[in-house]
Amino acid sequence: MKFPKIKRTLPPAASPIYLRDILWGIRGMIMGDREVERFRDELKETFGSRYCGLVSSGKVALAVTLETLRELCPERDQVVIPAFTCYSVPAVITRLGLRVRLCDVDPDTLDFDYDQLAGILSGVGGEESAEAGGKTGTEGILCVLPTHLFGIPSDISRVRKLVKDPGITVVEDAAQAMGGVHGGRKLGTLGDVGFFSLGRGKAFSTVEGGILLTDREDIGEIVERRIRMMPDYGTVGQLKLLAQAFTISIFLRPSLFWFPKSLPFLNLGKTVFETDYKVGKLSPFQAGLAIKWKARLREFAGARVRNAGHWASLFNQHMPGDHPETLNLIRFPVRLENREVKAMILSLDLSSEFGIMATYPDSIDGIEELAQMGAERRFPAAKKCSEDIITLPVHSYMSRRDRAEIESLFKNVIPSG
Ligand SMILES: *Cc1c(COP(=O)(O)O)cnc(C)c1O
Repeated sequence: MKFPKIKRTLPPAASPIYLRDILWGIRGMIMGDREVERFRDELKETFGSRYCGLVSSGKVALAVTLETLRELCPERDQVVIPAFTCYSVPAVITRLGLRVRLCDVDPDTLDFDYDQLAGILSGVGGEESAEAGGKTGTEGILCVLPTHLFGIPSDISRVRKLVKDPGITVVEDAAQAMGGVHGGRKLGTLGDVGFFSLGRGKAFSTVEGGILLTDREDIGEIVERRIRMMPDYGTVGQLKLLAQAFTISIFLRPSLFWFPKSLPFLNLGKTVFETDYKVGKLSPFQAGLAIKWKARLREFAGARVRNAGHWASLFNQHMPGDHPETLNLIRFPVRLENREVKAMILSLDLSSEFGIMATYPDSIDGIEELAQMGAERRFPAAKKCSEDIITLPVHSYMSRRDRAEIESLFKNVIPSG
């Protein structure tokens, strides 16, 4: 075992939890369900959504969405997702016994490859859908999941235009994009259903948690009923969350992050395909912890937008979306086509000290547990994204000096800049 280096260390992504938030959380625990209702009402008002569900993770928000859609359309079972996304997404789909249907991505935007998506949503690509349950056309497709990966806005209106079959629902995976805007509209409100994650390393965190938003009455009613039936954390569960929040509030700081990072059992930064996540409602402790959510999202966004804008100009990387001022990312993706350069950067101790890291280790069809997908690789752009992209931190813990050090690290490895 390598002895941990006691040295300033940046987490790759971070949404700080402060001690005063934890005090608000304890107050929430005392207030009970009223605190959850308050949080829900504020979210509904801010996002202008008729229905809002609060659950224990983004995975659960997605799961309850998919179960609801299944209840409304029992004959459909395919979920169309980008072939380059968070492993939790196919994990949820698989756990529910539904079918993952992949669409390749556009390497420049990390959004769907819209030519391929157009084919899928108009019922061509029959050979693949035959494999996915013997159905041709689009009658097997339950929903499509445009995803704002790293917070880069996916073009939801373009997805909408491609959906001709009214039985297909647009589910906006805004897990990484709470607080983001696109074309003046709030991310998370652009699909029939949208969801956020409140997990560690997302735009805003309550240790863990998920938010579901929808205006659709048919969906909203079922979602609310299903969430009411979910178990709650109970006192012990909330005390565990409290302990975790406390640990995060201390060890996420760059002066101490070397410590949790040195503990292998925390699996920090590992991508796992986990189908046995626990299902429950968001707790009053978490709702209390979120009491200042609007101000904190604004505060975090300020730093993220500034830093992402800096990286975008440094790497001369055009980002989709509107203006640099709205580039509210949780990590900044950089494409390094030269494998040697990429390997070299990631191997430097400095990289891990400055929160520079690789992304998902493979495209979704490369996940072992998804053997159903077949060995043949049909999603070359997604695979290449997993191979080429590294991410830089943009969060508020990164100082100007950190930023300058990262910059010089790149200048040294890539002399041409
Ligand atoms: C994190 C994430 C999820 C799942 O959210 P959890 O709160 O971790 O369960 C879903 N989709 C994407 C794109 C994510 O990044």
